[in-house]
Amino acid sequence: MNPREELARLAVEVRAHAEWQMETGATGSGEGDPRSTVAGTSTNATTTTTTNANTTATTTANTNTNTTAPSNATTRLRLVELADEVRRCTKCGLHSARTQTVFARGSTDAELCFVGEGPGADEDRQGFPFVGKAGQLLDRMIAAMGFARDDVYVCNIVKCRPPDNRKPEPDEMAACKPYLREQLELVAPKVIVALGATAVEGLIGMSGGITRLRGQWKLYRTIPVMPTFHPAYLLRNPAAKREVWDDLQAVMKQLGRSVPPAGRSA
Ligand code: SF4
Repeated sequence: MNPREELARLAVEVRAHAEWQMETGATGSGEGDPRSTVAGTSTNATTTTTTNANTTATTTANTNTNTTAPSNATTRLRLVELADEVRRCTKCGLHSARTQTVFARGSTDAELCFVGEGPGADEDRQGFPFVGKAGQLLDRMIAAMGFARDDVYVCNIVKCRPPDNRKPEPDEMAACKPYLREQLELVAPKVIVALGATAVEGLIGMSGGITRLRGQWKLYRTIPVMPTFHPAYLLRNPAAKREVWDDLQAVMKQLGRSVPPAGRSA
């Protein structure tokens, strides 16, 4: 990326950050840039993550899964192979109506992963997750947390678009789950944000409504999971952005990142 492109990217990030803060009522950016870490070192950050996971998910878990992850080159290579397997996949009925499969976007070294339900029309057309209006809102959420768009890893429970944007059926989620499982093993994020009820159900098998589940730490294997509302829901219910911002601040804390001051009331 040349300096001009880098500058343009930073300008987009700053604007997205400001827009999200205006929408949620969050003020300032803490002590300087929100992407600066509180813990300062990876060792401390890991300790914070482990402690928080233990207290909030009431499960003993060493969340530093990166220590056992394959090397970066091996990871990337396997993810490319996996995306190719997905491209040729016909394991469930969703393959018949897809334009193309939608595997993932973002960094394969990411400490934070967002998991959604499945591709919509824009994603099916472009081949990347979260590229429509809901995706633009997700990008603002990511920027407000102090990450560049491609610092995080974004994927879905199913890799092919369900017709008419319906919820994927249990057998479709089950057929696609091995791909997600391997993606998460390879990327080995420190925290997963589950976007919407179907993502929570597909990841950890819990149903019961996202309104009840959101904001409470869960566990996917050894990785803490924060359930929150799907950005598409936020487009229809903008008032829920404040609750999502609460959830994202908890995620930042879990990652050892500085948290902007609490939002002012509207
Ligand atoms: Fe295969 Fe998943 Fe697509 Fe079904 S949704 S055809 S399991 S890639």
